[in-house]
Amino acid sequence: MLSMDELFGIDVFSKKVMKTMLSAPIYKRLEETINEGKKLDREIADEVASAMKNWAVSKGATHYTHWFQPMTGITAEKHDGFISFSEGGNVIMDFSGKELIKGEPDASSFPSGGLRSTFEARGYTVWDPTSYAFVKGKTLYIPTAFCAFSGEAIDKKTPLLRSMDVLSKQALRVLKCLGVVASRVLPMVGVEQEYFLIDKEVYKKRKDLIICGRTLFGAPSPKDQQLDDHYFGMIKPRIQAFMEELNETLWRLGIPAKTEHNEVAPSQHELAPIYESCNIAADHNQLTMEIMQRVADKHGLVCLLNEKPFAGVNGSGKHNNWSLATDTGYNLLAPGKNEKENLIFYLFLTAIIKAVDEYQDLLRISVASASNDNRLGGSEAPPVIVSMFLGEELSDILDSIASDSTLSERKKNVMEFGVNSIPEFVKDSTDRNRTSPFAFTGNKFEFRMLGSSNSISCTNIMLNSAVAYTLESFADKLEQAKDVSACVHKIIKEEYKKHKRIIFNGNGYGEEWIVEAKKRGLLNLPSTPDCLPYMIEEKNVKMFLETKVLTETEIDARYNIQLENYSKSMLIEASTMLDMAKKEYLPAIIKYQRVLADSVKIKKDIGLDKGYKYELSVISKLDLISESIYKLVEKLEKELVLVKDKEGYDKSKYICDVIKPLMFDLREYVDKAEVLCAEDAWPLPSYSTLLFSI
Ligand code: ADP
Ligand code: MG
Repeated sequence: MLSMDELFGIDVFSKKVMKTMLSAPIYKRLEETINEGKKLDREIADEVASAMKNWAVSKGATHYTHWFQPMTGITAEKHDGFISFSEGGNVIMDFSGKELIKGEPDASSFPSGGLRSTFEARGYTVWDPTSYAFVKGKTLYIPTAFCAFSGEAIDKKTPLLRSMDVLSKQALRVLKCLGVVASRVLPMVGVEQEYFLIDKEVYKKRKDLIICGRTLFGAPSPKDQQLDDHYFGMIKPRIQAFMEELNETLWRLGIPAKTEHNEVAPSQHELAPIYESCNIAADHNQLTMEIMQRVADKHGLVCLLNEKPFAGVNGSGKHNNWSLATDTGYNLLAPGKNEKENLIFYLFLTAIIKAVDEYQDLLRISVASASNDNRLGGSEAPPVIVSMFLGEELSDILDSIASDSTLSERKKNVMEFGVNSIPEFVKDSTDRNRTSPFAFTGNKFEFRMLGSSNSISCTNIMLNSAVAYTLESFADKLEQAKDVSACVHKIIKEEYKKHKRIIFNGNGYGEEWIVEAKKRGLLNLPSTPDCLPYMIEEKNVKMFLETKVLTETEIDARYNIQLENYSKSMLIEASTMLDMAKKEYLPAIIKYQRVLADSVKIKKDIGLDKGYKYELSVISKLDLISESIYKLVEKLEKELVLVKDKEGYDKSKYICDVIKPLMFDLREYVDKAEVLCAEDAWPLPSYSTLLFSI
């Protein structure tokens, strides 16, 4: 058996491998590209490609693929063999620098949000040397960015890399003013991933799970999560076996899976790797989601990544733990130990407060999807209102800086500071708030609105660019300042006062918060169609253009793709519901009524005149229910025809306001019928079977 040290990253074309397989000068040049984001030298590509191929072939690979992240939110790959003919006609394994650097897949079947009609169908994939290539199965995977013929990005990686670049550039400007030497600043991200595991045989019996990844019907189970007996509970042997294989598969690919535990809902679990730079964390999270499903399948399980697989029990989210670190390993969000470090800490903190307040709409958009709409705001996940939790202590310190006053006597005991110096903040690990969408947790921020199936790229694109844009404005001031320290104080004071409204340390699940947030002028955007139009607001377009993270065409394309994704997923769910109601539920209800009617008849025949009250009552209740189901089916069918004439935003809004409530009602009636029918008369496995299938 391999030791952890030998196993970790064994299938990755890592720096360690590169060092042994590349000549020293080539390795050095590639390392500069990886570490410092320097442009890749075309000349070195051939040697890198050849080394990569030799290494991959030694691991059994026969093919390579440019692996990319189109706007579908999942990854895409097209495999090409290394196979080629030599001049003498012999079969050889070949892979050139050109093939490594650039691929040309047909882009016409990926969502492009209108970019396709204006440009050619052809797309390019371009090697991203900052994320390591790896071997999976018999294929060498090369992480790539994906763009249209015109150069417009039609993926999630390109803008993420751009946002990282601009963030680094602006953060370095600020740091330089503060006397910190560094050559790159990187957003570091650790992703906590929640998921459900259910038995494959049970899964196969539910059309809604197969088609939509979540149940569209289902009466509550008598027991679900009331007893809180699943959270951190003992991990069952079958799940343990799954986790072990999952960990090993992830470690082989260099994914540092670390923490695993049972979550709140029955059958729900969580996995968290050690944090990495944002781009790599994004690639690794995509791989993790894919591998979770593959390993589950091998164990006779199905991994559900939908945000709300079951009504009435907790849904699944994904926490994006985010901090900023220099290439020298200095975490800019760690409270400082001296005056200079404190200045840096509070200045970056202020930048984030300002960015989150000004671009709260973009953060909301970054997690918007039809499935996450079912989870957010349900007292199990953060509300849809974006706010920040800093904890009382940190808020008190910022308040006192803003008002030029010293801290209260109580606080004074803990920390001394003069009016013009910045106090030390001691990390208080007990200070936790689980209801906040964006919480400071000691030396990082945890953004908790992401849904379990979301790509983390969108959130980090928004966060990185908004913070970069803010830091740019700070750097402009600092570079002109005669007294840098005084300038930092002034910025903190002014900006904190302006953006303090975004800070909320109370209960984010409470009704009072909705009222209070409205008073503060914070956005409350319950559904995806409510929030998406903010994407094309002037201030947001300006920010994206000035940071060069997205062009105007790319912004429009993304807006259209998200609208389209919402409408399509909702309509698939509506059609699946109709199909199930007509083909499974209504026939089952009628059949069960017949069973009951037969019983009445038999009882009558044997002279039990009063012994069939129960049967009659259920028959008539089911009659009323099936009548309602039938009416709703007809209504929903009519609406699905009407909605075809609508487009874009109007379509999504119509689906949200008119079609979704009908779906909700339809479910309610079917679930009422389920409760009245015998278990063996019901055509689909119940919630108790689904949730306790393992
Ligand atoms: P929890 O919130 O459940 O207590 P942890 O404290 O274990 O979780 O951290 C969750 C995630 O945050 C992990 O992926 C961890 O690696 C990551 N993390 C820890 N420190 C940082 C940091 N400085 N920057 C970004 N992510 C971090
Ligand atoms: Mg956490």
